[in-house]
Amino acid sequence: MPTAAVVPIASVASPTIEFIQTSLLPAFDLTPIARSEKLGLLSELDESQVKGCTKCGLCRGRTNTVYAAGDCDARVMFIGEGPGEEEDMTGIPFVGRSGKLLDKMIGAMGLSRDGEASRDGEPSKSIYIANVVKCRPPENRQPSPQETAACSPYLMKQIEWVRPQVIVTLGLPATQLILGLKLPMGQMRGKWHAWRGIKVMPTYHPSYVLRSYNEQTRRAVWSDLQLVMIELGLEISGVSSSPA
Ligand code: SF4
Repeated sequence: MPTAAVVPIASVASPTIEFIQTSLLPAFDLTPIARSEKLGLLSELDESQVKGCTKCGLCRGRTNTVYAAGDCDARVMFIGEGPGEEEDMTGIPFVGRSGKLLDKMIGAMGLSRDGEASRDGEPSKSIYIANVVKCRPPENRQPSPQETAACSPYLMKQIEWVRPQVIVTLGLPATQLILGLKLPMGQMRGKWHAWRGIKVMPTYHPSYVLRSYNEQTRRAVWSDLQLVMIELGLEISGVSSSPA
């Protein structure tokens, strides 16, 4: 794997961040929910609805549904498109090659999927991660519009209950679903979008980074994640190069 590229911090601290209101849907009610209540709601949705779901044809090929990982009090939620082979086998999101790359990038942000939960007023050091569809599309193809429409109400509930400060959408299907924009990734990534009271930062999916393993792509993703770090008040001075 090539050596990590150096990304100048100054390149992401530019004041030219563009905020775009992309949805006419009402903002979520972001009044905090007690952790125990969130855990109950999220677990109930998984156990009573997602695990036995047959709302679309993807149920026929699945080994396991893949619901989510991370902390329900996370300030940042990552959203991918759907489970791959290893995720289908384990029931855990982002555990294959793409997941390892994502973990590396999340680690460089000072966070992790099993980081410390919030306590005594300190923000959670963890992230929450979920996909647009909970069952594996065959041959790792993108979910169809019908499959996305059938499954996305689960994701909307997860967002509503986790109530992240920031959402990072990974790749085109997740970004287009959340923002309702039919634009190429290159035009949506690297900018803040306002969506239902939550700030959204689109970036490339880790599998795309692996497929297009070049300095430009790695710098772009790391630059997007550094904007998220700035938004969350995370220390970026010690992290000047792409972890990808
Ligand atoms: Fe149900 Fe979603 Fe699986 Fe389709 S992808 S069967 S909607 S859980």
